[in-house]
Amino acid sequence: MSGLTVRAPAKINLHLGVGALREDGFHPLVTVYQAIGLYDDLTVREAPGWTLGVDLPGWMPADAVPTGGENIVDKAADLLAAHHGIERTGEVHIAKAIPVAGGMAGGSADAAAALVALDRLWEVRTPDEDLLALAAQLGSDVPFALLGGTALGTGRGELVDPVPDRGTWWWVVVPAEVGLSTPEVYRHFDRMFPDAPADPVPADALLRAIADADAWALADALHNDLEAPAVDLRPELGALIEAGESAGALRGIVSGSGPTCVFLCGSADHARSLAADLSGAGHPVVLAANGPVAGAHLVSYA
Ligand code: ATP
Repeated sequence: MSGLTVRAPAKINLHLGVGALREDGFHPLVTVYQAIGLYDDLTVREAPGWTLGVDLPGWMPADAVPTGGENIVDKAADLLAAHHGIERTGEVHIAKAIPVAGGMAGGSADAAAALVALDRLWEVRTPDEDLLALAAQLGSDVPFALLGGTALGTGRGELVDPVPDRGTWWWVVVPAEVGLSTPEVYRHFDRMFPDAPADPVPADALLRAIADADAWALADALHNDLEAPAVDLRPELGALIEAGESAGALRGIVSGSGPTCVFLCGSADHARSLAADLSGAGHPVVLAANGPVAGAHLVSYA
């Protein structure tokens, strides 16, 4: 085999309960992730050395993603190679579509795709539990990017368990032109909520809503403890959520640490029409996607 392409999805957090900062510098989370149909594709080919290239859509700034050895894909490759005691080799190409620094775990998706793709390219047959452990070392959201679907995340988000989800959910996704740094949003959460409880808010109502495929109950139960700090840092996000809800979304919410906002719709047609309304209102990039979808998976041999 000389090459292959692995596709990995963006995530949104249907529930993001954040507890008080732990001594190890992380926040305990109770989160419900959903993988949605907005993907980065990562292609790897056999090569004697190691190279990484990135293709960005026109609406992303040209320097949005690092290529000088600082990409999370370089780190994923180093970790997998070290795990097997082999050299890191390959020609890697990332075709990005997931907003960068948007609270949609695009870097984590690429890291998960790299683990799956390089495992195949190098023919090292890493057991799933080892891949999940390597993923957790790369970042809290990377294990979920491997798993996909809808899953409960605990710990710092890296412990993932699939949950029953009987719905097909339609989302309108509105990225911002300038990203937000996840650590900065967490620091702002700490400033705004110095008395946050040690235990994050549980996700029981939300888990019932998705198990029952009840869109209005889901709209009601969507919850994000990072929304207040993200909106405080970027007040225009509050206005965007109001605009989307006035235009008919069942509910709008900041995705993860933001600044991307996502709007729950009742059907594919509803999502298309809301996306057209928000584009018409002057938002340069408005996307529609459904969830849940699969985690990092092979789509073709290159
Ligand atoms: P999360 O929701 O997991 O906190 P995010 O979606 O807000 O993450 P990412 O798109 O993962 O943010 O990017 C965070 C930073 O990581 C970017 O500012 C970028 O400099 C760096 N980065 C490194 N590798 C990548 C990659 N392959 N794709 C995107 N960003 C990357």
